[in-house]
Amino acid sequence: MSLVEITPQHYDVQIDLKYATSDNFTGKRVYRKDARCFLHKEAAAALERAIVLAKTQGYRLCIYDAFRPSEAQWKLWEHTPDPGFLADPRRGSPHSRGVAVDLGLCRWDFTPLPMGTGFDEFHPRSHHGRLDIDAQSQRNRLLLMGIMTSAGWDFYRNEWWHYQLFNSRSYALYSDKAAGTGMMD
Ligand SMILES: [Zn+2]
Repeated sequence: MSLVEITPQHYDVQIDLKYATSDNFTGKRVYRKDARCFLHKEAAAALERAIVLAKTQGYRLCIYDAFRPSEAQWKLWEHTPDPGFLADPRRGSPHSRGVAVDLGLCRWDFTPLPMGTGFDEFHPRSHHGRLDIDAQSQRNRLLLMGIMTSAGWDFYRNEWWHYQLFNSRSYALYSDKAAGTGMMD
């Protein structure tokens, strides 16, 4: 198994899995309430590099989603089949390969920095390079992008919070069962 668990103790990040709560665009809990956070070991190594870079600037990272079992991708897709914001589960999301992470930049006390829109706000204002969000939020997005891309991640132009490894399709898709992550009810 190539997935490793990401814990606040070992990675010095905040884990706030939105799909383990009803605070997400579906309005319903998708994962188990006590779902844990996992990434492919190569993604975990890239996350560690990003954490170090953020730290040198006095910031920390807050993770909203990471490994997303394929069962969960189907649930999201059935709710909102919008290929601009979600990967069709038949093709497979990089999240279901353990090589994508959704995250925000936080102050040292884990207060989230303003990013112009909320996480998973399916609106053009969530795209990179928008001029219709305030300058401070633009700066925060650029800082997060600089940290993540310097750490080896690829960005996604439609979502400021989403980063994934290059060549993501070369990694295997996992269901919760196959991965043994115990994230689904
Ligand atoms: Zn994502």
